[in-house]
Amino acid sequence: MKIQKPTEYDISFKYICENCGCSHWLFLREAQCPDFQIVCECMEIIKPQTISKIDIIYSQDKPVVTENNLPVDTLNKCVKTLCSLGYETAEAEDMIRQSFDKINSDDCSELVKYALKNFGASYV
Ligand SMILES: [Zn+2]
Repeated sequence: MKIQKPTEYDISFKYICENCGCSHWLFLREAQCPDFQIVCECMEIIKPQTISKIDIIYSQDKPVVTENNLPVDTLNKCVKTLCSLGYETAEAEDMIRQSFDKINSDDCSELVKYALKNFGASYV
């Protein structure tokens, strides 16, 4: 999941006619135009104060870190492979989880190779 910022945005501004109470919406580009005027249905001319710019302040919350999130499918596939080599399911799971912690890869063959090379002997 990637964090996106908007490529475009549209902000509207509401102005109320002081003569008849009618509301008028302006787009940002209109509110930024120095000579923009609204002509109300009652013929009142409304001159909006020119907006120079709008700042978007993004929240500073850190995105959720997804470490140690080994997909179950990958884990099961790796465990199956290790079991076929004679490891118990619990051993195999432990080995794959530890390998994932170290290399942080969800590539099944890399995990199995790393597991065998680094943790295989401790279960023999
Ligand atoms: Zn009006």
